[in-house]
Parts: sequence; structure tokens; C-alpha cells
Amino acid sequence: MNGIRKILFATGNEGKMREIRSILADTGAEVRSLKEAGISVQIAEDGTTFEENALIKARAVAAALEEKDCVVMADDSGLVIDALGGEPGIYSARYMGENTSYDKKNANLIARMEGISEEKRTARFTCAIAAVLPDGREFTTQASIEGRIGYRPEGEGGFGYDPIFYVPEFGKTTAQMTAEEKNRVSHRGKALERMKEVLGENEGFDCQ
Ligand code: IMP
Repeated sequence: MNGIRKILFATGNEGKMREIRSILADTGAEVRSLKEAGISVQIAEDGTTFEENALIKARAVAAALEEKDCVVMADDSGLVIDALGGEPGIYSARYMGENTSYDKKNANLIARMEGISEEKRTARFTCAIAAVLPDGREFTTQASIEGRIGYRPEGEGGFGYDPIFYVPEFGKTTAQMTAEEKNRVSHRGKALERMKEVLGENEGFDCQ
């Protein structure tokens, strides 16, 4: 990511922000959240895909910036459960209401999965990342991690739906992984690594 000195990440979710900082640490760029930048914008996430919603967020924040001196990135992510027709999907944050605790959301999803056999419990976390450059160019990347919905919440790490997302290769949920393990294999980790590559291949911008 030659030349990028500042990244403004358009999220208010602290769990995500922790992961993002750690994944972007090797870029050497200064990574700020909306809160740290003192920016508050109302964004209608009315896209129909993760990618559209990530772009909507990144564009809205880029448009609100007075000084166009940084790359604005946003992610849109969620849990897609095959047996529930892809729910909660792009509505993952809003599922059962934005202010409902994840203990309740996770318990509800497990209850809805009752009677569903092991091989039909497939699910994935998907993450789209959008970047808007100071010169207006836009890039998106997307990645997923495959797993299964567990039978009970397990683990204290991560955030959101992590306690019910079991990854067979690891024999544990993403909430039981260390932060490093999760970032190496997660939807967000892989989509951000791809974004680093894309921005590295597209030189010609400078955010000094
Ligand atoms: P967004 O801010 O609209 O992208 O909301 C994404 C929502 O999806 C989060 O609030 C979580 O509920 C869920 N989610 C996304 N990524 C993860 C993850 O890595 N672990 C657990 N839940 C996640």
C-alpha cells in the first residue's frame, strides 16, 4: 500500500475495529475510526449485497470529509446461515434489533436451528471491504470463512456471532480462537489482505 499514510475506517463497531487495527498494523498507516476522527454521519445501509453496503458507507464518509487526505475504508459483513435461507445475512447487525444483546441473538439462532442435522448446519461469515481514495477511485474486495452453527455458544473472544460459529478445521468457534488465529483465516482478515494487495498494485496516489 505504497504511499498510504492515513486510513479512516468507517465503522462504529469496536469489535471490528480491534481486528482491523491489528490486520492493518503492518501497513504502517495511521488507522482512525470514525469516532477518533470526530465524524458522525447518518448512513442508510440500503444496498442489497455486502459489497454495495460497504461502498455506500465508504462513499458517505468520504463525501463528509473536509480534508481529502486519507483513504476511507468501510466493511460490511455478516453471518449467512444456509438452513435459514441466508439469514441474518446483510441484516446481521440489525437482526432482532440493533440493541438486542448477542447472547439473545445467538440463543435465538441456535433455537431456530433445533433439529437441523450436522451436515445442514453450514454457514459462512462474509466480509466486503470498500476503499475510496482521495482522487475518487474505488476498490472492493470480498472474502468468506466457512463453518457450522454450533449447538451452544462457546468461547469468550471475538464479538457478535463468534460464539456460535464453529470452524471444523480448528475444532473450535471463532470466539475460542486467539485474535491472531481468527485474523489469519477470517472473512475480514482475508478481505483486508486482498485490499492491501489491490492498493499495492494501484500506485499513483499519495496520502502523505
Ligand atoms: P455491519 O456493521 O453492518 O457490517 O454488521 C456486521 C454484523 O455481522 C456485526 O455486527 C456482527 O453481528 C456480524 N459479524 C460480522 N463479522 C463478524 C465476526 O467476525 N464475528 C462475529 N460476528 C460478526
